Amino acid sequence: MSDTIFGKIIRKEIPADIVYEDDLALAFKDINPQAPTHILLIPKKPISAIDAATDEDRDLLGHLLLTVKKVAAEAGLKNGYRVVINNGNDGGQTVYHLHLHILGDRPLKWPPG
Ligand code: AMP
Repeated sequence: MSDTIFGKIIRKEIPADIVYEDDLALAFKDINPQAPTHILLIPKKPISAIDAATDEDRDLLGHLLLTVKKVAAEAGLKNGYRVVINNGNDGGQTVYHLHLHILGDRPLKWPPG
């Protein structure tokens, strides 16, 4: 896949407010937060979208979901939170490097827009 702004954040070429990092994943605050807490969790592997993930990514995807729990706990999201993956045009995806939105610190409406 082609490079994205998130690739530059992974390589520390541009700044981000990083809240978590391990060998496989990175989490940082969204620059345009949609909730008082809005964190993006991304794999360091450049997967463009959930649609582009393969069976080879099974462990990585599991790692990301389990890392959501850690990041949410560290952010103090005791009352719950929402995890969102936008996929493709209709899904509202704007950055083509897979990312999980972690939103919290306010009640979130359902269904989403
Ligand atoms: P999506 O629309 O699901 O592709 O989400 C992309 C998200 O990335 C949006 O919520 C943007 O606000 C966020 N974003 C874009 N550029 C940056 C950046 N440099 N640092 C942090 N968040 C960003």
